[in-house]
Amino acid sequence: MNAFFSLIYIFASVMFIVGLKQMSHPKTAVRGNMLGAVGMFLAIVAAAFDRSIGGYVFIMLGLVAGTIIGYFLAQRVQMTGMPQLVGLLNGLGGGASVLVAWADLLLHDNQTTDALIAIGITGLIGAVTLTGSLVAYAKLEEWKQFKKPYSIANQQSINLALLVVVALLVCGMALTNNNAIQVVCFVLAAAASSVLGVFLVNPIGGADMPVVISLMNSYSGLAGAATGFVIDNHALIICGSLVGASGVILTQIMCKAMNRSLTNVLFGVMAGGSEGTSADEVYANVRSTSADDIAMILDGAQRVVIVPGYGMAVAQAQHAVRDLSKLLESRGVNVEYAIHPVAGRMPGHMNVLLAEADISYDKLKEMDEINPTMDSVDVAIVIGANDVVNPLAKTDPKSPIAGMPIIDVDKCRTVIVIKRSLSPGFAGIPNPLFALPNTLMYFADGQAAVMEIVKAIKENA
Ligand code: NDP
Repeated sequence: MNAFFSLIYIFASVMFIVGLKQMSHPKTAVRGNMLGAVGMFLAIVAAAFDRSIGGYVFIMLGLVAGTIIGYFLAQRVQMTGMPQLVGLLNGLGGGASVLVAWADLLLHDNQTTDALIAIGITGLIGAVTLTGSLVAYAKLEEWKQFKKPYSIANQQSINLALLVVVALLVCGMALTNNNAIQVVCFVLAAAASSVLGVFLVNPIGGADMPVVISLMNSYSGLAGAATGFVIDNHALIICGSLVGASGVILTQIMCKAMNRSLTNVLFGVMAGGSEGTSADEVYANVRSTSADDIAMILDGAQRVVIVPGYGMAVAQAQHAVRDLSKLLESRGVNVEYAIHPVAGRMPGHMNVLLAEADISYDKLKEMDEINPTMDSVDVAIVIGANDVVNPLAKTDPKSPIAGMPIIDVDKCRTVIVIKRSLSPGFAGIPNPLFALPNTLMYFADGQAAVMEIVKAIKENA
């Protein structure tokens, strides 16, 4: 019977791997997602029959409650709320790992040293993931108390001390045979790890958030894999490792995008904000424009680059943007999209939105590819992007985005920025791009603005 379940786990794991592969391309992504979900369903069913489980009623209740909550959350969440939801799901995964490890400890006396260490590690990673993800959630929701990076005095020494305490508690668990002491050590280790999770994520903010999100994603996978060792479930070990490894790869990509090392993000001192760059000074020479003027400017353009950002997601402007591109292309204009790796509020956010509007993947150019050619662009249309086109990243070493590569729209002949006001982006700093001599601001909601431009182009034709 065991071999039969092992086969199902391997089959499910193959489905996860093939599903992941398919998710790497928009055309096959939905199929890949379905494949992963079916694999997970198989793994859950197998896990339910794999061992002598006593509490089927509770399992069913949990499954039904989880399915109902998951269904309504997925139905109700706005596209702009997806990053927060993903953050929350990472955290819940970590929390679930802690509970499973705790239950295993309560249920089984005489655990082997290996198993006790696996339980301790699960408690550590799971609890850090839970509270770290909750803080990340609060930052993404832009809750006032969490928005600004915040750290206490000697933060890093305290973090190190907490880590040592957790390690000692896990060793204590492994060295004693007394189940009651093991449980106490586990609870204390999980509590200390929860505090560590808050302390690790709270000092990070601004433009470094993408790194935190991908790191939490990776931690949730590692917590799952460690839980797999605790309950001896192969599918969980493989699935957790896949999430952990892909999270690490994503973290590396995000670090590269920010031009930061992981240690720098995790342990570096956050820049406190740029001095001497007051918004009033920066915005002294801002010029605004209208849809009709933009239509006229576009009339003479041959190469147009659209730079989407978080505001495009808020405005749900991707379909209108596609219509504008098609209209321009029908008039012989070459239209491309410049995609910054951290644009939006989650990795790949812009790619998902543009794919939803059926915009061909070939037209999406990564920052490194398009930047060297920006000086031959006639018009750059920046829609709802702010931090990812902010030249302060290059000029102000004290800014929270210092050193981050940006899309070099300032090199284009004309820059049109569509946003509702001069409000800052996620990093909370002014943007000198808006006051450059070649920049024109179109103050409006992203979707309405693009529709107005389309209308004006058609009327001018
Ligand atoms: P920003 O957050 O810098 O700016 C978004 C802009 O969109 C705002 O200035 C806002 O201006 C505008 N906006 C909001 N609503 C609308 C609307 N309805 N119509 C038009 N404009 C609108 O976005 P970017 O994409 O440039 O940068 C992403 C930032 O988020 C970076 O700092 C990044 O590090 C961070 N981040 C990224 C994550 C990721 O994984 N990608 C995760 C977490 C954070 P206004 O209010 O005036 O309209």
